[in-house]
Amino acid sequence: MQNKTWINLIATLALILPLAGAAMADERKDLAFEVIDRNAGQMTDISDSIYYFGELGMQEFEGSKLLKETLEAAGFRVELGGAGMPTNVWAEFGSGRPKIAIVTEIDALPGGSQTPGEFAHKPLVTDAPGHMEGHNTHAGVASMAAFAVKQVMQRHNIPGTVAISFGPAEEQLGSRPYLVRAGYFKDVDAVIYLHIGDTLATRFGIGNYAAISSVFTFHGKTAHGAVNPWDGKDAVDAVELMDIGFDKLREHLRPTYRAHRTITFGGIQPNIIPDRGQIWWFVRDASMPAAKETYDKLLKIAEGAALMTGTTFDVKYSASAWPQLVNKTFAEAIQKNVDLVGMPKWTETEQERAHEFQKMHALPVVGLQKAVTPLGGRPQATSSNDNGDVSWVVPAGSLNFPSAIPGVGAHEWKAAVFPTSSISHKGQVAGAKALAASIIDLMTTPELIQKARAEFEVESKKTPYFSLVPPDAKPDVELNRVEMEKYRADMRKFYLNKTPRFN
Ligand SMILES: [Zn+2]
Repeated sequence: MQNKTWINLIATLALILPLAGAAMADERKDLAFEVIDRNAGQMTDISDSIYYFGELGMQEFEGSKLLKETLEAAGFRVELGGAGMPTNVWAEFGSGRPKIAIVTEIDALPGGSQTPGEFAHKPLVTDAPGHMEGHNTHAGVASMAAFAVKQVMQRHNIPGTVAISFGPAEEQLGSRPYLVRAGYFKDVDAVIYLHIGDTLATRFGIGNYAAISSVFTFHGKTAHGAVNPWDGKDAVDAVELMDIGFDKLREHLRPTYRAHRTITFGGIQPNIIPDRGQIWWFVRDASMPAAKETYDKLLKIAEGAALMTGTTFDVKYSASAWPQLVNKTFAEAIQKNVDLVGMPKWTETEQERAHEFQKMHALPVVGLQKAVTPLGGRPQATSSNDNGDVSWVVPAGSLNFPSAIPGVGAHEWKAAVFPTSSISHKGQVAGAKALAASIIDLMTTPELIQKARAEFEVESKKTPYFSLVPPDAKPDVELNRVEMEKYRADMRKFYLNKTPRFN
């Protein structure tokens, strides 16, 4: 009998304890969700403000200032200008481990200006930059989720640190390798990539393509094109030969490769033999070692082109990005919160608007997604994101939230129509909830971090990380400055001038 009593007791405890744990977890998440619902308007004020700033990479001055002020008022320590980039934002609350960081970006794209809500192309400011990928929404969702986590940490005495990294110039792959080099992720246990999408989703596996971007400048000698061309050394001939040389190589490259270029300086006028010629290359592949192999061949082709034309050349590293290595353990944990939060309840009007827009632009007329995406790997995209580098030094998870219209491609003006709409706002609430709940799970479940770490040790060793950034390279903080300054005064007229304050 005695034994049986014990067995019963243990059986009962076994039933109760996980429930107690679950109830506790739910209580924490309930609090996070309550904080998010209460602050939804503050969150979307941040995102909408960033939309109207429409700032290009490395020029996110208004956006980073707003984030610094908002997050400081919310109780975060905020560093602006780290790793040599004036618009780099790193915010933290708490201390010590575990340390969980949200990794995202807020930059816009050239020529993306659009009047929000207008179904036809109607820029707010002609030719000005704008948010035609919806990165503005990242600002609100990341800040909101981190604030909700902070409130839960304080109420429930949860140790650790929640951090947000807003890296500049994602669209030009401009910052993350520098953040990794500067050691920002050294004491971080987990990162979660945050990006707008058309559904609430996570994923795992290799996420996208490796990329290396460099500018090749050839130097020759000028001469009159008719009087003494034999005295000239034509730097633009070298550019052309480099291009032809690479075309000859294409047949012998792995089918996974991508390479594209633009001639950024091609001479002044035909009768002046140019002493300068410039060509800007992107080389990509499914892995960084494969991309590097092609890139090394490209360097040889530049040498050959210089030899043939009697010119010299220099190479300026422009950017690089590793593919994202997304952790399956984290994906499984995040999926539970994706399922818990679910998709927003769209109104009939919102569905009608989406249908109408899709129809008008000859897209599949599917409306807005109604169900979250089930867990699974995704095909490796051939585009690149410089946040990839982070995932080779820290285990990384990924979350997309439903603030975009299905079928609308990023980097076109059409993607700038909805980022401040009620659809976007509701998607941001869902995103902030799934993100906050996932961070709470990571902070309070050491086994999860350990399991993810073990997986990371195996997966990351398959392709040991090396940085493509030359030791003496500095971030290009002048990037987009001239372009941005052309439009800023006219864009300022549309600023919302909000002061979002979380409570
Ligand atoms: Zn993006």
